[in-house]
Amino acid sequence: MKHLLTKTMLIALLSVMVISCSKKNEIPADQENETVQNQKVLAYIKNLGFTDAQIVESGNNYVVDGDIVFSKTMEVPADNGKPITEQYYNGNIVTNSSNIRVKIDPSINGMISEINSAINQWNTVPNSKIKFVITTGTIYDILIKVDNTIGSSTCGQAYLSTSNGKAGNTVWINQNLIQNNSFAQRQRTITHEFGHTISFKHTNQSTTINVPGVGGTDALSLMNGGQCGSGATVLSAKDKQATAVLYPL
Ligand SMILES: [Zn+2]
Repeated sequence: MKHLLTKTMLIALLSVMVISCSKKNEIPADQENETVQNQKVLAYIKNLGFTDAQIVESGNNYVVDGDIVFSKTMEVPADNGKPITEQYYNGNIVTNSSNIRVKIDPSINGMISEINSAINQWNTVPNSKIKFVITTGTIYDILIKVDNTIGSSTCGQAYLSTSNGKAGNTVWINQNLIQNNSFAQRQRTITHEFGHTISFKHTNQSTTINVPGVGGTDALSLMNGGQCGSGATVLSAKDKQATAVLYPL
């Protein structure tokens, strides 16, 4: 009996460990210590169409659907994220979309070619004014940097664009995880994360806002989530179409 009990406990423990590995730090059931601010941010994330199961607490952030990051200290917009209106987006169009300044943190100097390739993909979308530009100045819209601690299966993470028209201001790349991927896949990760900073969510996620006229699933979408190291390496026809709808010339 005792042996059986031990075995059961071991199995239970192993299950917990497996769950922890795949889902990272779940929000604790005991939310008593959560501040009002945290609850506001959580309510905002849910209003954007995400479910509790998709939201993972990670340090000072909430991470949604693997790689979309919300700071716990973010300013929650007055409309609380209610949709304005597939490819999917968060409703927050970046205002200075033809001059989005990207600062390259020295930590990611080893991937400048990949960053340039990613920027080139967005900058050459037909009929769209989207332009990322690399800056070395102190004023920038997005900082891209290495963070090798974001999870054993997470290639990168990014903030979404904000309700006051700013690009998501940080992209984190898990260099240790992706460095053995092909060049195409490495730049895919960066292209994908830049997509989040200009409002794109995951195309293969159902609870989001359709880009008007460009709805539905798209197996070729570079903005499909959960495809680190295996997903599309170039923006699909529908990705480009959606970009041109949100950021027309
Ligand atoms: Zn993503």
